Amino acid sequence: MRLLLAEDELDLARALGRALEENGYAVDVVHDGLEAAHLGTSVEYDAILLDLMLPERDGFEVLAEVRAARATPVLILTARDGVDDRVRGLDGGADDYLVKPFELKELLARVRALIRRAAGRAVPRIEVGDVALDPAARTVTKGGVPVRLSPKEFAVAEFLLTHRGRLVTRTMLVEHVYDDAEETASNVLDVYVASLRRKLGREFVRTRRGEGYIVDA
Ligand code: CA
Repeated sequence: MRLLLAEDELDLARALGRALEENGYAVDVVHDGLEAAHLGTSVEYDAILLDLMLPERDGFEVLAEVRAARATPVLILTARDGVDDRVRGLDGGADDYLVKPFELKELLARVRALIRRAAGRAVPRIEVGDVALDPAARTVTKGGVPVRLSPKEFAVAEFLLTHRGRLVTRTMLVEHVYDDAEETASNVLDVYVASLRRKLGREFVRTRRGEGYIVDA
């Protein structure tokens, strides 16, 4: 899952970006509203974390531009006394908010909830056949037995399972599993998919030649 973090406090941005990556997300970090609007409208993120007080363009303007182009879930980050800002943000198309300073575990839980709802899912755990993935615990089981996955294998499995029953193109996978800073070759995906088949069953992921991958609903 790939996130955009727009935050102009450099220390906070760096710490948050690192923490999100440690929790399995691909993260692009920007420090002003212009870049945030550019990336937020041109890249299909799984969620956008948007500080409201940003240079160049404030968060409300960024939100309006994103909403004119995309349905990406947006969580706004606001100051403690910013009730009016939160109301304006939510009414402007934001999906959730978090008051600074916040605890990382609450941010992570809210991001998971946003991604879950965007996928049209109410139940946190994703189950397909005898495979179950828990996005919060970051665990996968097959037939109730824990399966050890590398962080990237987990990211690929999570994206495929979240979009089960739908064709996932290689481009989509690359865009949602890697951030801007990572070197990517899309044939690496074949390695991850082969590894997932080995660990979760040959029939777990089907290949549509020349198109991409599909996990049955
Ligand atoms: Ca700020």
